[in-house]
Order: sequence, then structure tokens, then C-alpha cells
Amino acid sequence: MDENMVVELISVGTEILLGNIVNTNAAYLAEKCAGLGLSCYYQDVVGDNEHRLYDTIKTALSRADILLLSGGLGPTQDDLTKEVAAKVLGKPLYLHEPSKAAIQEFFEKRGMEITDNNWKQAMVPEGCTVVDNPNGTAPGIIMAEKGKHVILMPGPPNEMIPMFETSIMPYLSGLQSCVIFSQTVKVCGVGESKVETMVQDLIDQQTNPTIATYAKTGEVHLRVTARAEDEKAARKLVKPMVKELKGRFGNHIYTTDDDVTLEKAVVDLLLANELTISTVESCTGGLLAARLINVPGVSEVFKSGYITYSNKAKRRLLGIKKNLLMKHGAVSEEIAREMAKGMALVSKSDVTVSITGIAGPEGGTEEKPVGLVYIGCNVCGRITVKECHFSGNRAKIRENTVSSALSLMRECILQYYSEVTFGGKDK
Ligand code: ATP
Ligand code: MG
Repeated sequence: MDENMVVELISVGTEILLGNIVNTNAAYLAEKCAGLGLSCYYQDVVGDNEHRLYDTIKTALSRADILLLSGGLGPTQDDLTKEVAAKVLGKPLYLHEPSKAAIQEFFEKRGMEITDNNWKQAMVPEGCTVVDNPNGTAPGIIMAEKGKHVILMPGPPNEMIPMFETSIMPYLSGLQSCVIFSQTVKVCGVGESKVETMVQDLIDQQTNPTIATYAKTGEVHLRVTARAEDEKAARKLVKPMVKELKGRFGNHIYTTDDDVTLEKAVVDLLLANELTISTVESCTGGLLAARLINVPGVSEVFKSGYITYSNKAKRRLLGIKKNLLMKHGAVSEEIAREMAKGMALVSKSDVTVSITGIAGPEGGTEEKPVGLVYIGCNVCGRITVKECHFSGNRAKIRENTVSSALSLMRECILQYYSEVTFGGKDK
């Protein structure tokens, strides 16, 4: 099999250098290129400056097969990507009549006046392929020479992305003699470093397929990617590796489907077992309920979500005794347990999940530091409480808490059904 072709991304624009805009084009293109099986070793950002852009293109050409540029195709003086790229490749520009007509039509349709500098956008390098831009006036450009491919796209994402998807992606696929197929194995309830250790031997030996680990909040994704002459052959290479990972991670794998999120996996589990759920949250203030309600079809299982932030609310809404709160404090295993229990009585749900913790930045003590969170999960009367210690700022702690709660719910439900073998759920 051929070695991967190497792509280099060049984002052109002083605005990016100054931090006025975020380089989302590079993130988008990098991800797409990885999906196409292209290797990307460098991403460059360069301002609207002729000499520096010239040098950047020249350097990129010395180390990559494909250059993907975005930005600087507009009508103004500071837009000079096309002029500079053509100069590097020694190509003169000429007026491309179909582009001129397209620009004319674009303006006429919108009742806008054409200014002279707009015709600059219809000038293209000799021998290039001109790519349609239905969402703007600057056409895309593909220049191919001596095994190198220089591709120019407009900067605005609403023009660049559709152009990439309809024209550039098929072009890039066509350059490859093989296809790429990936499958993602999503793991929850196992820490990132543990996951990596558990697959280190596979990563060390990897050739085709390869495995890459991606740490997400509260979960880790393992992406298995194979290349082969066709998709069927690539799938065949991926399959035994996914099987191997299933053997290693067992129930901690919640899906091997790219489109399934952790909350969707939990909701599916509830649906499959005909279990209803309610949540009661303190420091996450409804984030857990919101994540569950992200999932279409959750109305079949979700009954209610309380935010019992103050002690008074915990007492009034859940019937938690004052002396228990005084004795253990609101952030404690006992109160997480009482919250899950109280919510089951109030909501009459099969599963209830409670969260109480210290999200900071204030409120921590030596005994109960910021990041201490208790998550309770009650499955048909069987209550589990997990003590967690998260780091990071308030937002991060709350986000981590929600992912851990989803993970714990999954674990508790699976455990419940692996132990209750007769008579279904005992309510
Ligand atoms: P225009 O015709 O609008 O001038 P252009 O191809 O010349 O298009 P730029 O002038 O470089 O592109 O950028 C225009 C706008 O596109 C920027 O103000 C920004 O909003 C967006 N943009 C450009 N580059 C990027 C990028 N790398 N990531 C995200 N957005 C970008
Ligand atoms: Mg511009």
C-alpha cells in the first residue's frame, strides 16, 4: 500500500494572526483530511503579506504533496493568495470568462453594483481547474503540477465548507489509490491513562489498522482506522481490532457507532428496559437533565428533574431531615443517597440520579475541597453512591460531573440487570 499523501494547511489572514477570528477552517480541514487518510504534519497561519505568504507556500511545497489554502481570495488589494500562489508556481493569470459571467450573475441577482476590483476574482492561473463557488464570488482554484497539488479556497466558512464538500473532497479522494474506513469505539468509566495503558501494546504494533485515542470529558474514544483498496477490505481489517477492544473493555464500551453519544446510550438502555428516570441536582443545576433531554425520544422515559440547590429545597422537596443535613453536610455520601431516595418517592421513577458537590471556586475546605462531588444512583431501590474528585474550574467540574453521572447510571442499570435474573424489576 502507498504511503499516506501529506497535506499542509495554510490559513491566510492577518485577522487570524491577531486573534480577531478563530481559525475554525483549519480545525475543520484537519479533521476532514484525517478522515481521508491524509497525513498532516504542519498547519501554517500567515498574514496578508506577499513575501511571507510566498515563503510559506514555497516551504510547504518542499514538505507536502497537497497544500490546502483558505482565505485571501476576495476582491480587495489585501487579498493576494491567488496572485502569490500563481507566482510561486510560475503561472500567469488570465481572465476566466465563465467566472466573469458567474460574478456578473451573482451581483445582478442580488441587485448589487459591481465594482472594478470584482473582476480580479475572475482572473485565474494558467492550467488550473476552476472550482464553483455557489455561495460567493471567488471561485476555488486547483493547481496540479509535478505531483503537487495546490488548492485555494475562500476564507468565509459558509463558502469554504460547501466548496470543500462538493468539489475538493472528491478531488482529494481521487488522488488516493486506496480508501480509508474508521470506526470509533467509545469507552466510559475508565480513565484516559488507564485506557491508553490497556491498548499500548496494540498501538506499539499498529500498522494497518491504526488506533488513536481521544480523551473527551468523562469518556475516551478509540478510533480504529484501516486503509485498503476498497471499503469492504478496509472494514475487514477494522473488524478484528474492534473485537479485540471489545474483549479488553467489555461493558465499558457504550457504543461503536459514531452517532451515538453517551446520553443517547443511557436513554437507549432505559428504553430497552422500560425504566423511567428522574434527576435531582445541586451543583450541576440541571445540566444532567439537559443532556438527557438532548436525546430525541427521551420523553418516553424522563419524568422530572429537580434542582435542589439550597438545604431548604433539599428538605422541602425531598423530605431530607434537617439533622441529617446538619450532621453530614449537604455535600456528603449520605445526602446524595437521601436525595436519590427522596426523588424516587416524589417522582415515582424507576431510576433516580442525584448530584451534590462543590464546584468552586469558593466553598471548599480541607476536608471537603473544591471538586468533591457525590453522585447517587438509585435503580429500583438499589442505591449506589460514587465519590468523585474533579479538578479544573467551575464549568469543567460541572461538565465532568454530568459525564460521570451518565457513566454511573449505565453501570448501575447494567449491574442491576446482571444480578436480577428472575421476575424483572422488583418495584
Ligand atoms: P472575502 O471575499 O470575504 O474577502 P477571502 O477569501 O478573501 O473572502 P478573507 O478575507 O481572508 O477571505 O476572510 C474573510 C472572512 O472569512 C474573515 O473575516 C472570517 O470571517 C472568515 N475566515 C477567513 N479565514 C478563516 C479561517 N481560517 N477560519 C475561520 N474563518 C475564517
Ligand atoms: Mg478578503
